[in-house]
Amino acid sequence: MKEENHFNVIIIGAGASGLMCAQAAGKRGRNVLVLEHSKEAGAKILVSGGGKCNFTNLGVDKENYISGNPHFVTSALRRFTQHDFISLLEEHDVKYEEREHGQLFCRGSAKAVVNLLLKECDTAGVKIRTGCSVKKVEKEKDFRVKTNSGDFTSESLVIAAGGLSLPESGATALGYKVAIQFGIKVIKQLPGLVPLVLKEGKDFKSLSGISVNASVSVNGCSFRDAVLFTHRGLSGPAILQASNYWHNGDEIMINLLPDIDLEERLALWQREKPRATVKNLLATLLPKRLVAYLSAGLDMERPVSQYGKKDMKKIAEIFNAWSVRPHETEGYRKAEVTRGGIDTNELSSRTFESKKVQRLYFIGEVLDVTGWLGGYNLQWAWSSGYCAGQYI
Ligand SMILES: Cc1cc2nc3c(=O)[nH]c(=O)nc-3n(C[C@H](O)[C@H](O)[C@H](O)COP(=O)(O)OP(=O)(O)OC[C@H]3O[C@@H](n4cnc5c(N)ncnc54)[C@H](O)[C@@H]3O)c2cc1C
Repeated sequence: MKEENHFNVIIIGAGASGLMCAQAAGKRGRNVLVLEHSKEAGAKILVSGGGKCNFTNLGVDKENYISGNPHFVTSALRRFTQHDFISLLEEHDVKYEEREHGQLFCRGSAKAVVNLLLKECDTAGVKIRTGCSVKKVEKEKDFRVKTNSGDFTSESLVIAAGGLSLPESGATALGYKVAIQFGIKVIKQLPGLVPLVLKEGKDFKSLSGISVNASVSVNGCSFRDAVLFTHRGLSGPAILQASNYWHNGDEIMINLLPDIDLEERLALWQREKPRATVKNLLATLLPKRLVAYLSAGLDMERPVSQYGKKDMKKIAEIFNAWSVRPHETEGYRKAEVTRGGIDTNELSSRTFESKKVQRLYFIGEVLDVTGWLGGYNLQWAWSSGYCAGQYI
């Protein structure tokens, strides 16, 4: 092995976690090589947040993450916080803004975040090879990484190869394959933060484009935000959040009028607007097309005064607790993240080193750590990358 092909550390993946880790290790004087098979580093950062990169959230907490081991994230999130990342942006004079739910976005393009990380890597002497696809990893005394542009060796190896979402951004299953190769347990992967497909009749298509503020509940978790009707099913932030908790066959419950107890409102209308039809009254609260769709098969054309308690309860249930059973998700093509991944019980939550294989580290989305929508996944990439970078 030529001297120039040997490094203290090789990091596979020049995404959010890999670049963060590389600059942190480089600053400690480590000789670091990052291998990236896409032509450019940080492809997912560039598309994140609709091109404006929702890079973190003001309210990061372990409750915002799903993992087989819910405490795993605590240490790294405390050691490299959202405020640490904000300070880094400020040092580089990257302008940002706060949006709802404490979400922080770049004011300009997400490119500023990638440029910042590349600059930090450059200052730290990190070498980045793009267009370099890792095919295989072997371990003798050191690690040997086989790529389409030759072999590289290192004392430590960091897997920052991300998840399976958005295949066109360069996503591969390499991280999971390496783990399996070394006997490290991997939790089944599923698309996360993903629209849901419904098998409703063709009338459902008429709802496409409608957006309502609703509360969506699944498996004991509820999210209040916009629900968007698509021609194939449901999307929007509240649905994407719920999708992280949804499994095939589960029902989701949507309260389309989360601020209104419809049974009480119907009783009020009976007193105040007795001659108005239920359908017309509901159309003052929700889009007409949605009311028409949900009231199909129900008798809602009569004046509200003509309805008894039982009827009103039935109507209220449809709008306050609309129950749907999605058929499937839209898959990795439309998913923002991958659920499941490297079992966190296999790693040190402090160093991210494998408990089984010395000097092998896993960081970022490849782990069984899935954040909510709102900047939490990138914060996880920053925190895990930075912390591993202190030890490799
Ligand atoms: C459309 C979209 C929008 C998003 N928006 C947001 C947002 O606004 N806020 C937020 O917090 N999160 C967002 N996310 C999620 C977030 O981008 C990811 O969780 C985060 O980028 C994961 O970082 P990572 O370093 O673990 O993986 P990645 O950023 O995916 O990096 C992994 C890298 O490894 C490379 N790689 C894979 N296999 C190989 C191989 N065999 N050889 C060499 N290189 C390889 C890949 O090309 C990639 O560059 C979004 C995701 C998507 C898809």
